[in-house]
Amino acid sequence: MPKPRILVHVCCAPDALYVFGMLKDAYEVTGFFSNSNIQPREEYDLRLGEARKVALDSGVGLIEDDDDPEGWTALTLKFKDEPEKGRRCDVCYAVRLGRTAARAAREGFDAFTTVMSLSPWKKAAVLNRMGRQFAARHGVAFLEADFKKKDGFKKSVDLSRAHGLYRQDYCGCVYSRDAARKRASS
Ligand code: SF4
Repeated sequence: MPKPRILVHVCCAPDALYVFGMLKDAYEVTGFFSNSNIQPREEYDLRLGEARKVALDSGVGLIEDDDDPEGWTALTLKFKDEPEKGRRCDVCYAVRLGRTAARAAREGFDAFTTVMSLSPWKKAAVLNRMGRQFAARHGVAFLEADFKKKDGFKKSVDLSRAHGLYRQDYCGCVYSRDAARKRASS
């Protein structure tokens, strides 16, 4: 019996490497790089390049979404001063999960999920609630997860170090970059 096909939203290579490994036994995995939050463009290109490498090494396909930083900025602008894990992040999750669900439905996948819950900075309960809503809207199953559990985050750090992957020092948007720089200099 063929494995179900799952579209896995990928925000960065280190998280993708760990999650691909976890899911590959049960699913036919395809990655989906949809991250218009990542700015500036050089950083976007760097993370996309690393995601391509990890997909290749893991033997999975990678679909690349269009990059639309202007659209993402317009949607999140009124929350630009929110802290990380605040309302700006909820909008950011919704943009990326919604696009993943729509793409999964359009291309006939059985399910979708995201690697984002691997990060201690991401709210798994919110991601899972949104995932369920998008699943209902697009008629495709959502795999609920909290990949950081069972030492998932630590294991992904160790794995990405062993593979020499680039590990970013901010989440992705310019607001998180500026906050990280401020923390580092204080
Ligand atoms: S901090 Fe991360 S999750 Fe939050 S808005 Fe910025 S890029 Fe998105």
